[in-house]
Amino acid sequence: MHARHKPSRSLWKRTEIMNLTIHPCKRFHLFHIPIHFLGVRHENAGNPDRIENKPMNVWKYLKNLAKGRSGMNLRLNLFPGGVSKALTLSYDDGVHQDRRLVEIMNRHRIRGTFHLNSGFLDHENHITAAEVPELYQGHEVSVHTRTHPFLERIPREGVLTQILQDRSALEELASYPVRGMSYPYGTYNADVLALLPALGIEYSRTVKSHGQFTLPDNWLEWHPTCHHNDMMTLGKSFLELTQVHPAMQLLYVWGHSYEFDRNNNWEEFESFCEMMGGREDLWYATNIEIVDYLHAVRQLRFSASQALVYNPSSLDVWISVSGEPCRIPGGRTVSLG
Ligand SMILES: [Zn+2]
Repeated sequence: MHARHKPSRSLWKRTEIMNLTIHPCKRFHLFHIPIHFLGVRHENAGNPDRIENKPMNVWKYLKNLAKGRSGMNLRLNLFPGGVSKALTLSYDDGVHQDRRLVEIMNRHRIRGTFHLNSGFLDHENHITAAEVPELYQGHEVSVHTRTHPFLERIPREGVLTQILQDRSALEELASYPVRGMSYPYGTYNADVLALLPALGIEYSRTVKSHGQFTLPDNWLEWHPTCHHNDMMTLGKSFLELTQVHPAMQLLYVWGHSYEFDRNNNWEEFESFCEMMGGREDLWYATNIEIVDYLHAVRQLRFSASQALVYNPSSLDVWISVSGEPCRIPGGRTVSLG
């Protein structure tokens, strides 16, 4: 805290419940007043290159409040790092070819989610239970049911068991709550969908590729962009994509790593990762990180004027303020000026 703005102890006590950070995207020139006069606590957000201590332009704030608008153009259209594009990969079944796949992904800093059948770990052609924690480090381990049934063809009790047992077994290995899933064979029905929330499943991927870069309407029916057979074509389109009105865009590729052995086309996966990897304009995410981030975006709480925003989540959230990327640190209130 700047010494000039240090409030008295009594003022501090009255005001520390609010945690306000002033955003540097806007400069305030009309007049500045000591921040404790505003009755708010003012401190650095922990990232000095992005967020600095700036006295608040109260006049501007009140004027905008009176007008009922912030005077700014706010858009919820950015991923972490202030980028508008994200890439995630999703591979099913936990087969031994995942070892080669993960090695290539890691080399290019590409991340993804691995949907595993815990009932088949240690079986022929599958990875072992013991290697799960290290092999998938930096990626996400996710449910694919215990033994890969058609979920819509078994009793509800079987659906419960298949999902919960898989989840429990994978959590033992991964050492974190496993909250995602992909449907075995990509199939499900309304009964299966209805059970998932009670089983702690927050998203589930289908195999209905749509060829788009849009985010899902329903996390429990998360349709991917494409199977990896189409990854080169759609990957190029994704990188070339320019938007007049930018929105968050996601390239979601799914498949099975054994298909690269079967089709003898590992070099295609190498080329894809070379093309997509290590870029500054992409966010490389696991499936659940995308879910968590989008929830954090939706949890942002704006003031009536939209000049203030509170981020109640623990994740930093990025938004556009008059076309400029701005970070809203987790747990902070930010004045957008
Ligand atoms: Zn499968």
